[in-house]
Amino acid sequence: MRISTCPLCEAACGILVDLDGDRIRSIRGDPDDPFSRGYICPKAAAIADIHNDADRIRTPLIRNGTGWREASWDEALDRAADGLARVRRQHGRDAVAIYYGNPVAHSLGLITHALTFVRALRTRNVYSASSADQLPQMLVALRMFGHQALIPVPDLDRTDLLLIFGANPIVSHGSLMTAPDMRRRLRAIRERGGRVVVIDPRRTETAAAADQHIPIRPGTDAWLLAAMLHVIFAERWVNVRRLEGRIKNFDALASFVRDLSPERVADRTGINPEITRRLAGDVARTGRAACYSRVGLCTQRHGTLASWLVQALNLVTGHVDDVGGMMFTTPAVDVVSILSRIGLTGAYDRWRSRVRNLPEFGGELPVATLADEIETPGRGRIRALMTIAGNPVLSAPNGRRLDRACASLEHVVAVDPYLNETTRHAHVLLPPAPPLSRGHYDLALNAFAVRNIAKYSEPVVDRHPSERHDWEILADLGARLFAPQLLRAPVAGALRVLHPERILDFMLRIGPHRLSLAQLRRTPHGRDLGPLEPGRIAQIIAGAGRTIDLAPVDFVREARERLIACDDSDTNGQLQLIGRRQLRSNNSWMHNSHRLVKGKPRCTLLIHPDDAMTRGLANGDAAHVESKAGALTVPVEVTDAVLPGVVSLPHGWGHDREGTRLTVARQSPGASVNDVTSEFEVDTLSGTAAFNGVAVHVSRASALLKSM
Ligand code: SF4
Repeated sequence: MRISTCPLCEAACGILVDLDGDRIRSIRGDPDDPFSRGYICPKAAAIADIHNDADRIRTPLIRNGTGWREASWDEALDRAADGLARVRRQHGRDAVAIYYGNPVAHSLGLITHALTFVRALRTRNVYSASSADQLPQMLVALRMFGHQALIPVPDLDRTDLLLIFGANPIVSHGSLMTAPDMRRRLRAIRERGGRVVVIDPRRTETAAAADQHIPIRPGTDAWLLAAMLHVIFAERWVNVRRLEGRIKNFDALASFVRDLSPERVADRTGINPEITRRLAGDVARTGRAACYSRVGLCTQRHGTLASWLVQALNLVTGHVDDVGGMMFTTPAVDVVSILSRIGLTGAYDRWRSRVRNLPEFGGELPVATLADEIETPGRGRIRALMTIAGNPVLSAPNGRRLDRACASLEHVVAVDPYLNETTRHAHVLLPPAPPLSRGHYDLALNAFAVRNIAKYSEPVVDRHPSERHDWEILADLGARLFAPQLLRAPVAGALRVLHPERILDFMLRIGPHRLSLAQLRRTPHGRDLGPLEPGRIAQIIAGAGRTIDLAPVDFVREARERLIACDDSDTNGQLQLIGRRQLRSNNSWMHNSHRLVKGKPRCTLLIHPDDAMTRGLANGDAAHVESKAGALTVPVEVTDAVLPGVVSLPHGWGHDREGTRLTVARQSPGASVNDVTSEFEVDTLSGTAAFNGVAVHVSRASALLKSM
């Protein structure tokens, strides 16, 4: 049995891996891991399927007409680099785009090497899954707290009231609230006399386990939050306790929410004003309370405003930087401190996208405009794309359009273990060695854990001599792209000396806990470095000579324009589509595991009985779902778990395209929600895709699908 860490999500559960040679026989939870204590979700066992998967690409591939041929690493890397260099030479640096997906965040080597590679490309066309996910929270962190990674997390194990907006932590396992076994932790809040309240258009798995579920109309959280703040200011419940004197712009926030009483927003949110008032009172009067929000709030038309108002609510009620509230970690590798020391706190709106004038954030443009930048002629048009662990055809809005755009590119390079819906457009595919053949330390996501933790896991399987790690691929490609011919070999060698573990060791040594990699190696189950410490943000902002900005001027301007002046609540008889995360699904990339996709079809449209009846739909019937972006057909599941007027579809499905090599996934293809989401529906401030609240027509499809 080998001790390791599940690399699939930020919960980073401890696992024990049983090997049979280089095959993984089984995986179970590690009871001695101090953070996860034996817990794993169903995805952990499926790592074995990915590892042993015959469809996983093990040798570099080069496109050969309509097919593929295997190639040596030298030939494939040369071909990849030559194509990228040719496009740069002929059309300029911005003609090469790069997209990286969510798994990058969980790879030590990609965190240490991918950002350097991207910066070396010096293109403005950098895209990632962030702008389909958490970017509004990063923008809020930058504008309020002064660093894009200073996102507070609930002090989950000590809070007495947890308000959850647009998140389903029992399924997501936290997400910017890293905590394995979320069900147990939420139950513990209730067992110590506390409460969990979920505000969501759907009765999610978390809502079903909570004390209270407050259904809300999709995309209206900003109004509810503003109304709660209205009550708190009107009742003089403002209490900033330990951050007294360190917060500015109270008046700007108070003035903005003055017009948004619970009564005024009730029609829009669908929430009784009395419930809003009681909720505001509960947050203000509970000593240890935390308001937490996640992807449901980020990926809506007012994603930044809603995410901002959540933190404003925490701040004015004294629930930031204190035990049981929203706190900041003291991670063993303090990325915020390291980046701040070299002047990297984050950046916003230094330039705009060429076609749609959307703002840059942290050197990236919103993925919602990637297809525009590929298709629109003119200087700076994207001609080549490199993807790293990503599948934007399934994860970006209007994936069908992006699919067609990718097919038109001159050169596509994919660093990916699968021929998926996006990488099937590649001209060269460079497959990295599997995750358990590399060492693991979650550099990025430990900063959002509900306790301070540190764990390094050794590789548990040997990398085959013909395989290369993700970071080695980037180092070798970088040497070919950026070094003169004669110096390529020594540069590649020098880059490989910068091993991720060396960088990790250095960062641990200068971190607040003064650890080393050798120390972590001696405690392979992981180290618990204690609970989150109060006073952390006060210390950080005092050290930087800053104050917390409660009401950034552009947020207030946007809020006045969008929330007070604009009336966009008329749905015109259409239903509103929201997303859905699933326990046995990991975005788009693990559907080739039979154990995860077997059983009843799970790519279903949840629809309320009233809406189903008016459309003549019953359980298992095929529904035609149409938006202004496109259409799809999917079986329905009739349930009162969604509000009338709301339908819900999970993301990451739609494996029916030709040219992929996903034998299992193709047998249960489902439909891609991004066939109906629109690239033109974005959060105005951040450009993040607005996946929630998409207006759709739902009708009975002519053909019936198999009965569920
Ligand atoms: S919650 Fe599941 S996917 Fe996430 S780290 Fe734990 S076992 Fe892995």
